[in-house]
Amino acid sequence: MRLDHTHDLAAKSWLESANDDDASFPLQNLPFAVFRRAGTAEAFRGGVALGDQVIDLTRVVEAGGFSGLAAQAASACAQPTLNGFLAMGADAWRALRHALFDRFKAQDERERAGPGVAALKRCLVPQADVEYGLPMQIGDYTDFYTSIDHARNIVNLLRPDGSLSPNFQWMPLAYHGRVSSIGLSGQPIRRPLGQRLPTGQREPELAPCARLDYELELGIFIGAGNEQGTRIPVARAEEHVFGLCLLNDWSARDIQSWESVPLGPFLAKNFATTLSPWIVTMDALAPFRGAWTRPSGDPQPLPYLCAPETPAYGALDIQLEVALETANHRRNGIAPTRLSRTSFRHQYWTVAQMVAHHTVGGCNLRSGDLLGSGTVSGPTRAEAGALIELTEAGKTPVRLPTGETRSFLEDGDAVVMTGWCERTGYARIGFGESRGEILPAHGE
Ligand code: CA
Repeated sequence: MRLDHTHDLAAKSWLESANDDDASFPLQNLPFAVFRRAGTAEAFRGGVALGDQVIDLTRVVEAGGFSGLAAQAASACAQPTLNGFLAMGADAWRALRHALFDRFKAQDERERAGPGVAALKRCLVPQADVEYGLPMQIGDYTDFYTSIDHARNIVNLLRPDGSLSPNFQWMPLAYHGRVSSIGLSGQPIRRPLGQRLPTGQREPELAPCARLDYELELGIFIGAGNEQGTRIPVARAEEHVFGLCLLNDWSARDIQSWESVPLGPFLAKNFATTLSPWIVTMDALAPFRGAWTRPSGDPQPLPYLCAPETPAYGALDIQLEVALETANHRRNGIAPTRLSRTSFRHQYWTVAQMVAHHTVGGCNLRSGDLLGSGTVSGPTRAEAGALIELTEAGKTPVRLPTGETRSFLEDGDAVVMTGWCERTGYARIGFGESRGEILPAHGE
């Protein structure tokens, strides 16, 4: 936990839209994305959100807005992906954050060195006018399974006579996922075909998924990696994490239940994964750390999974919400209906523990690698991070204000995920949103 002047609640920007109390992107946030003006052939490049604008880092460099390590870091963002910037490490990320904070804070507080406000205003592009690109060339994607409430709900639904797998409480479990189908908010989600075994039948059929679901997760981007054969100790793990975004791990439950034994999910998960465009840095999240505790009867983590600061600061209080917008919502001008709301602080394993465990066998992580946190579900039904939990595998459908019900997702449904952090004494910061709309299956 490292707090400094960039977390000061009183700090304001000369850019008025950054100072609204409910702004997602105040001066204290400064998340990163890759963008260009929508509908143009401009090169994608790195940008930072402030208020309702994108700070075009390439333009600020050209205007002489940065010096030293911050200038090198900003120059590394003048690329279609941020892998090179992430590989520079935490000192470079922090130098750029501090330089941005100084350039864009209210003028009476600004140092007089560097370009003036008029020059910096020419480096802004309205968010309403841009389109986003995948921020990294993602080499590998690993999806974890770290919410004990989600894991218990799934066991109760799918194996009522079973119990939580005993390894769950000893290590952060995961499977290696698919990169080619990772896309950004707005990507259309084509309902997948796959094999499923209809109830009461002995032979499977190839059919469109009938139990399409979402999973509310956080995406975790690796900054600086590690050499193969070495490990990242838990106490240093967060130095290797650049930041977090929203992640929807679309899931085909009927395909999953037939194919998953013995090797785990395959087609049930490989057709699409959706990310929000903005990456909120670990520095921006520093004020929202909290105590990470285990119930006294639970196994305590092995030493390689617990740093001295883990009990005091291991948890991250990130508010997460899922909403559903059907075609009827759109037709009748009804806002998306909230399905659930929870916090990442309930997660059984921390981001640092995921990184430490992933590498303890010598696996090398690389800059731009993506980890999924696993479905984030809290202890109550209203905090469930997937429809299969909310509807008890379809037995208790969700009722919507449009008069419709949902057991699983139907064609035309859009799933909207949002995230934010708030704490008395600190500026509220937002993640923006991740949105995906279901298209009918091909071949119907
Ligand atoms: Ca998942």
